[in-house]
Amino acid sequence: MSTKRYTVTSALPYANGPVHIGHIAGAYLPADIYVRYLRGKKHDVAFVCGSDEHGAAITLRAKKDGVSPQEIVDKYHKINKKAFTDFGIDFSIYHRTSDKLHHETAKEFFKTLEDKNVFTKKTSKQFYDEENNQFLADRYIIGECPKCNATGAYGDQCEKCGSALSPEELINPTSTLSGNKPIKKETSHWYLPMQDHQKWLKPWTEDGILNDGNHHNPKNWRSQVIGQCKSWIDGGLQERAMTRDLDWGVKVPVKDADGKVLYVWLDAPIGYISSTKKWAAENNKNWEDYWKNEDTELVHFIGKDNIVFHCIIFPIILKAHEGYILPTNVVANEFLNLEGKKLSTSRNWAIWLHEYLEDFEGQEDALRYALCATAPESKDTDFTWADFQARNNNELVAIFGNFINRVVVLTNKYWDGLVPACNTLDPYDKEILEKLKAFPNKIGTSIEKYRFREALGELMNLARLGNKYLADTEPWKLKKSDEKRTETIMNICIQITASLAILSEPFMPFTSDKLKKLLVINKVNWNDAGGIIINDNHQINPATHLFNKIEDEQIETQLDKLKQ
Ligand SMILES: [Zn+2]
Repeated sequence: MSTKRYTVTSALPYANGPVHIGHIAGAYLPADIYVRYLRGKKHDVAFVCGSDEHGAAITLRAKKDGVSPQEIVDKYHKINKKAFTDFGIDFSIYHRTSDKLHHETAKEFFKTLEDKNVFTKKTSKQFYDEENNQFLADRYIIGECPKCNATGAYGDQCEKCGSALSPEELINPTSTLSGNKPIKKETSHWYLPMQDHQKWLKPWTEDGILNDGNHHNPKNWRSQVIGQCKSWIDGGLQERAMTRDLDWGVKVPVKDADGKVLYVWLDAPIGYISSTKKWAAENNKNWEDYWKNEDTELVHFIGKDNIVFHCIIFPIILKAHEGYILPTNVVANEFLNLEGKKLSTSRNWAIWLHEYLEDFEGQEDALRYALCATAPESKDTDFTWADFQARNNNELVAIFGNFINRVVVLTNKYWDGLVPACNTLDPYDKEILEKLKAFPNKIGTSIEKYRFREALGELMNLARLGNKYLADTEPWKLKKSDEKRTETIMNICIQITASLAILSEPFMPFTSDKLKKLLVINKVNWNDAGGIIINDNHQINPATHLFNKIEDEQIETQLDKLKQ
């Protein structure tokens, strides 16, 4: 079997607060499932991510809290890094954009693009807060909406009527920093003329064609991703400023650019590259293999609010720089809502990952399972605590856990944990083994198509198959009358259990690990699944609990917590 090289990225979380389940469902869990599967198939994968530690929101937060920006990002980098690790998101590296290596990498990118005349430099008048000595980002200017006259409309959008706005259109603009009326002040910035790249972006995003050749199969891209690119490109791309007036970030590495930093477009995505560099240096690898080799597949996992960023702006930057590969897929998810309402950090309407991990210790996989089963792959979906409880109790405990428990308990009860022999197979046994054989490929194919819900559904179907086989054959009744037949049935059940241990790994790594220890199988990987994995007379361990039932009181506690 041939192996390939992959670079897989998850959107860099902003180090301005903790990550919540919406982030997890959008960019981290699906990427982790994909990567664990690829690693199980022995592919070479760099799975890179890190904290996005720059931007105006962080400096404003620091000002408000009376601390330095570095203190803010140190705090959340630590919290989020730990939460990802504890949740089993198995990054090759979780880096950070305040690191020196990142600053050097981003500066090199800017300089190369500047030398190639990719940018245009322009001077314009922008809103400025005199009290804070700061130019104002669109979000920091509010005023009356010119369309619906609602107050409190932002410089980029009115949340009341949904109109896209520019700060100049607002009636009575005020600075959210000081509450004063901002003045207009002249400033110069570097702009990326995106319209110049429209010609190649259209065939690339719509048909997977680059430089007149096939680059990727557009059928593997989600329709909403292609649709959003199409509407941006057909609407006409415009130039965008790639720099900002701010004192926190990557300094613009040219003369006469004091007080200017690279804007997020030219900072955060470069973080994928600097992360890879750091990881490669620490692991005796060549980072260029992962970013410059045409045989490498680059796959980005993001939420839908990041599509234009990863499908248009970052590819323009990579291609204009030259020497870099472009993504073969950008896997964007829609949004996950919570109890019927939009997740919101500012309104504290969220389930924070680090808090879940404290409240449900040892139940990481219950959340991984519920989030994957309701993943917003093609439309927005809703997470409810009641659904979470039902999925844990009625699916993980009652189907998956129950099958394995019965098999392990019976094997220990009848044969002291020694796996019985597989004797003569009857037609029904053969049918079951035939079906078992098909599962690794079925689940793998769905994962390769980025259909993680479908893949998880197939995994559960394998547990259902096991339960049905047990219910149909009733080995506990046969034990007295037909020992040989009982042995065969239980041997087959053990093989199904072993396949579940392997195939559950991408979705539920903690459970997979427990199962492998229970069955005493360690050197197994994806390609072993579906066949005869465990030999006769192999010793397994006594049964342990894989999943705990979640009680009503636990759910009520969580619902109360949301209302606070
Ligand atoms: Zn409005």
